Amino acid sequence: PETTTTAAAAETTKAAETTTAAAKTEKKDGVLIGVAMPTKDLQRWNQDGSNMKKELEAAGYKVDLQYASNDVQTQVSQIENMISNGCKMLVIASIDGSSLGEPLSQAKSMGIPVIAYDRLIMNSDAVTYYATFDNYKVGQKQGEYLEKSLGLDKAGDPKNIEFFTGDPADNNCKFFFGGAMDVLKKYVDNGRLVVKSGQTAFEQVATEKWDSEKAQNRMDTIIAGNYSDGTVLDAVLCSNDSTALGVENALASSYTGKYPIITGQDCDIANVKNMIQGKQAMSVFKDTRTLATQVVKMVDSVMQGGKAEINDTKSYDNGTGIIPTYLCDPVVVTVDNYKEMLITSGYYTEDQLK
Ligand code: BGC
Repeated sequence: PETTTTAAAAETTKAAETTTAAAKTEKKDGVLIGVAMPTKDLQRWNQDGSNMKKELEAAGYKVDLQYASNDVQTQVSQIENMISNGCKMLVIASIDGSSLGEPLSQAKSMGIPVIAYDRLIMNSDAVTYYATFDNYKVGQKQGEYLEKSLGLDKAGDPKNIEFFTGDPADNNCKFFFGGAMDVLKKYVDNGRLVVKSGQTAFEQVATEKWDSEKAQNRMDTIIAGNYSDGTVLDAVLCSNDSTALGVENALASSYTGKYPIITGQDCDIANVKNMIQGKQAMSVFKDTRTLATQVVKMVDSVMQGGKAEINDTKSYDNGTGIIPTYLCDPVVVTVDNYKEMLITSGYYTEDQLK
């Protein structure tokens, strides 16, 4: 009788489990998650968006995925629409980290949790979690790459460098630029690095909306004023690939000296192609699949009423306090490891890089 009772109990438990699983799936099937991405112009966001959608749908959610053409007002309206369409959670890669206060306080009042995706959303107490790559490390890796390839830590001649970072409204920029400058500033101060343009302050080296053309125009002017008389440009610190691309285009059109060492971030296809052709030395790879997977786990934990996995509780204060954060690890990619990192890993096909 004992065995029978146990068996019957096991059956009951199993049935209960099945019902719970069914209920969960049913619950998920009805649940709409809003995913707001900044722009389709940059390859990475297309990848972020499609990975998120694919993975959320595989986990049983419905997804409202929107791109805002880098226009703040468009993003605000898209988020408002997501809320009125009944989404139960928002995942947002903001265009301007400080311009989402209104829709987000609406989200908060309706009990809709918000995950800041890749870029921190500032001055809003509606942000539940933040998931990103370690932005400081991205900049630090770029700085260390330049330090090593220019041999800055050893005695030698001064090297000429120029700096390019991204949009001042993107909170990531101060981490990217700050991380790189924490490595390089001492060499600027001791004269080992020379910035002929004299532009070293964040405001001077920022690139509005991370726009390639804007970076190209600024580089054109810098070349004309400082490097058109045979002066060699040894390196350009670029915070990401879209700014690096602008710099590379400017160099191609008006610089004839020894080619500089250029940094980047994202491993955009155009930049990896340039890397293969020797026109960009490195890019920091942030595998958007890793971030998407982590964020989907976050969404799932919160939607099941639990807490999400985090690994940083000190770095990211959005003005209302520290936001619990999950940081993924960025990796340096060069011609030496791009095949393994980008092709073998299935991120790109070999044909895409031809
Ligand atoms: C992202 C970078 C990207 C840049 C421009 C940043 O916030 O972290 O990966 O290159 O925005 O879109």
